[in-house]
Amino acid sequence: MSKLISLLLLIIITSGIAQDKSPNIILMIGDGMGLTQISSGMYANKNSTALEGFEFIGLSKTHAFDQLITDSAASGTAMASGVKTYNGVIGIDTKNKSIKSILEICQDKGYKTALLATSSIVHATPASFYANIPSRRQYQDIALQLREHSVDLFIGGGKKHFNKRDDKRNLIEEMNNYHFVKSLEELSSSESKKIGYLTYKDEPPTKLEGRSPALEDMASSSIKKMKSLGEPFFMMIEGSQIDWGGHSNDMDYVLSEFKEFNTTIQRVLNYAKSDGNTLVIVTADHETGGLTLSGGNIKRGTAKGTFSTKGHSAAMVPVFSYGPKAELFKGIYENTAIFDKMLKAVTK
Ligand SMILES: [Zn+2]
Repeated sequence: MSKLISLLLLIIITSGIAQDKSPNIILMIGDGMGLTQISSGMYANKNSTALEGFEFIGLSKTHAFDQLITDSAASGTAMASGVKTYNGVIGIDTKNKSIKSILEICQDKGYKTALLATSSIVHATPASFYANIPSRRQYQDIALQLREHSVDLFIGGGKKHFNKRDDKRNLIEEMNNYHFVKSLEELSSSESKKIGYLTYKDEPPTKLEGRSPALEDMASSSIKKMKSLGEPFFMMIEGSQIDWGGHSNDMDYVLSEFKEFNTTIQRVLNYAKSDGNTLVIVTADHETGGLTLSGGNIKRGTAKGTFSTKGHSAAMVPVFSYGPKAELFKGIYENTAIFDKMLKAVTK
């Protein structure tokens, strides 16, 4: 009997400890993924999306500091650092002050960190989590800031900004505490505490052109690696090219990029469900293309879109959340509140 009581006590104590553990955060950003991109992708997937598995839904107001229509730099900065700034600016507020990102705040709290993108790693959205720079186009300078950063794992294109530079420096050689891998297999077997995987010399190609590795495999391998490095961890995963499909007004491009992102969301959600201490947030930085879902067929899995702009639009974008503190993300709020809510989730 006393054995049973001590067993019960042990269960109560350990479950108390479990609740007190800082949660992992996986922030997933579908660049340019408005509600119509999601709807189109869902119907093209025979009326199903991984997003239906989430617990709470919110809406985010994406406008920049002084413009209704944001770009990925201002919006990335808003979500990463909680500040509305000018379009084109990364990690700097309107008073020209550099601001810390949630990734860096998590690092200060002992989190391991990872950035994954299907664009180059120096592109506006991933850069918002480690760079402070007046122009998103200063790719070589952004690469230099990644060289000086201490993010534990990054995967994305844009190798040339590291090793084919105007200043003749080779940042890959300089970053000698990093293991630069050439495949996910190499990533998985690496025993290095810092890993970089520059997937392409330039911007990665589209999914339709055969981009690899698949984002869902990048996510699975990275989650495993993070767990081996020691929890908790903060990870940002960007489905970068949903936006580029919108800019091209190309429905097949949008749908194929969404499909990969949706598969990745399902992988991440499955992990979070089995783990129990991982907060997953899926959102977008803005909508791209002013897309209308104007036709299609559920049985055949087709969706026809009509675009109204080659640029971004100002419509609110949805926010889906699952896991510990997921309830914080319900309601309507500014995109800067995504930072505030993540901060709240990691603050005891
Ligand atoms: Zn864009």
